[in-house]
Amino acid sequence: MVKEVFPRIFQLKIPLPKNPMNHLNAYLITGKNRVVLVDTGLNSDESFDGLKKELEKVGFKLKDITDVWLTHFHIDHVGLILRLRKNSNFRLIIHKNEAERSKKVLSNLKEFLSSLKFFLKINGAPKNFIKNLDNFYYSFVNPSIYREIANPWLALTGGEKLSLDKYCFKVIWTPGHSAGHICFYEPNFKFLLSGDHLLPTTTPNVSRFTEDTNPLAEYLDSLEKVEKLDVKKVFPAHEDVFINYRERIQQLKSHHQQRSKEILEKLQEEKLTAYQLASKIQWETDYESWEKFPFFDKYLAFGEILAHLKLLEEKNLVKKIRKNQVFFYHAKD
Ligand SMILES: [Zn+2]
Repeated sequence: MVKEVFPRIFQLKIPLPKNPMNHLNAYLITGKNRVVLVDTGLNSDESFDGLKKELEKVGFKLKDITDVWLTHFHIDHVGLILRLRKNSNFRLIIHKNEAERSKKVLSNLKEFLSSLKFFLKINGAPKNFIKNLDNFYYSFVNPSIYREIANPWLALTGGEKLSLDKYCFKVIWTPGHSAGHICFYEPNFKFLLSGDHLLPTTTPNVSRFTEDTNPLAEYLDSLEKVEKLDVKKVFPAHEDVFINYRERIQQLKSHHQQRSKEILEKLQEEKLTAYQLASKIQWETDYESWEKFPFFDKYLAFGEILAHLKLLEEKNLVKKIRKNQVFFYHAKD
């Protein structure tokens, strides 16, 4: 059974093989003349077959899709656009930051990867960690997918209104989980397609992998932005529909406060690199120890610590010192 979460809006469950999230919720908004798909799935047979089956259950085919709206450019959201392209001449919309970042990756993946490796290295990542990066990137960076995203039909900045019969969606730019993450808000019917910005139980990952960005500050601001909206129902990109979104926002804020506190306590005891810190944090996971974490989990955890350190640094609570080409952090008294 496909859930009709609101009249003419269907929640399609797209399987995500070998992914901790298990499935993606794509949303199909069906108007008289337009059929919009919000997010797609991984570039895999399982996701693709899943999408086709879910569409069939509600009486649609791939070729009926006229528009694809992407909440952000992560692979579990954008992966199917090429296979969709073969079946439909849809109009693609995404935030301009995602389009620009895709252009950057496309123009020189080698250079992009070498500056990323340098960043990880000066933050204390060991060689055997960094060497996984090539495989990891080359396995999912499909240039044709990035080319599509780099050249959307419409690149959004936030604030736009997208009408579809009786619905009128406002684009809310919510950077943090991704620099060009957007939510789609329907102010008359008071529901929000939240992408990965708000999930009911999972804490959305907020990572930093460049020197001069502060994604956690952006994420917390984006939480404030969404908190001010009047929302009765949230349709997230993973897990289930939920209603208690202000409570959820409070939980997420306090999660990050707790994490900051834990980091500060560790840095009061000793000077540590971001990587060392990541290995000492009490992560909510079933893995016995940091060593047992798969590469991708380590990567996300490391990124989250780097995001926290930037926020703490800007609040003047930690200090960064450079020793032998590596950054160490300590808490300020
Ligand atoms: Zn994501």
